[in-house]
Amino acid sequence: MRAWHGVLAGVLALSGCLSPSQGPSALPVPSLQPVTFADYHDSQGLDRELRTVQERHPGLVRVEELGRSVGGKPILLATVTAPVGPAKPVAFIDGCHHGNENQGCEGPLFLATFLADNYARNATVRWILDTFQVDLVPDVNPDGHDAQTRVNANGVNLNRNYPTDHGDPLGLSYPLGPPVTPLTWQLPAACVPADVPLRCPVRPSENGGVQALDQPEAAAIAGHMAQLGKRLAFYLTFHTAAHSVIAPWAAFHPPHDIPPEQDAVLVAVLDWTNRHTTYDGGRTGWLDQSGNLGYAASGTSMDWAYDCCGVPSFTFETHGHADGQPEDVNWWGQDILPVSLKLLMNTDLLQQWKSPEREFPYPAAWQGVHVFEEAPARAAQPPPPEL
Ligand SMILES: [Zn+2]
Repeated sequence: MRAWHGVLAGVLALSGCLSPSQGPSALPVPSLQPVTFADYHDSQGLDRELRTVQERHPGLVRVEELGRSVGGKPILLATVTAPVGPAKPVAFIDGCHHGNENQGCEGPLFLATFLADNYARNATVRWILDTFQVDLVPDVNPDGHDAQTRVNANGVNLNRNYPTDHGDPLGLSYPLGPPVTPLTWQLPAACVPADVPLRCPVRPSENGGVQALDQPEAAAIAGHMAQLGKRLAFYLTFHTAAHSVIAPWAAFHPPHDIPPEQDAVLVAVLDWTNRHTTYDGGRTGWLDQSGNLGYAASGTSMDWAYDCCGVPSFTFETHGHADGQPEDVNWWGQDILPVSLKLLMNTDLLQQWKSPEREFPYPAAWQGVHVFEEAPARAAQPPPPEL
């Protein structure tokens, strides 16, 4: 894996030397600094890396404590923007609701590092951070992450602890853990490793908490959504490893229908994902396999972001090593960039429920190397800002 990554780093370095005239699109080929981590991080490591990014870019990155876990560990929020402005739309991105989904914990850290390190090098990244604010919480569940458990230190599945349809057994949100019935009973061994949802469609321990938001970790995330208010533009939450991008509703009993004009925007993102990445864009429900999960999930943070705040909201089920991909933090770190940057490029349009039509102008060298199954239709794209 290291050898492969070295090849990519070399390709990226080369791409920075190309002139616009060498590309058919007449777009400047952006220079992008790859992010390289030695390995996955525990909660302390995630925090340390986040503070290191802040030290490298004190004018771009501000790290603060959003709350504390059941076990008293800090839940850190990194605000990445230049400069902080009271009116900027905010993209809110988190990870690690499920502590054993390691790629889901690394995703927001990877993005924070990628954005901050490329601000001075890449005009499009600079435009994103000049225009929008990106709030990232890599480690929502530090206790679970360090224990490598799906649940938090109270044994609660934090992604069943949010108010939308909370406590609905058919949405696998059980107030005190599930009743033992043929529907829910399953040999624990069938769920190992726990980040393979297709082998474990009905989980034995989806304790959603006695009441919605009775867990400090979920309360911290919901509290931040509330604090952002109308500045919140969209929400993206990282999980593994269904290999998909999912949009609301996940709940078994959604509180209302999604208006067609909003659904069209969600579908546009899912369709783009299907066309331009190796991920599947879809929905989840007992009868809906398009998001590769095939069960309803009530009390999720994704549904709550849409429910509470009326913004586009997505769950990013990344690759995981267990679905045949390399166990290399940098490999799949690159892998999350297309979807993430597509959303970030369109932060303001998503906030207004308009078609997310801007594209991130990737270096041509990236296409076909790893991140795209097919090259984006660059000729049909509007010129990106500042380029
Ligand atoms: Zn998960």
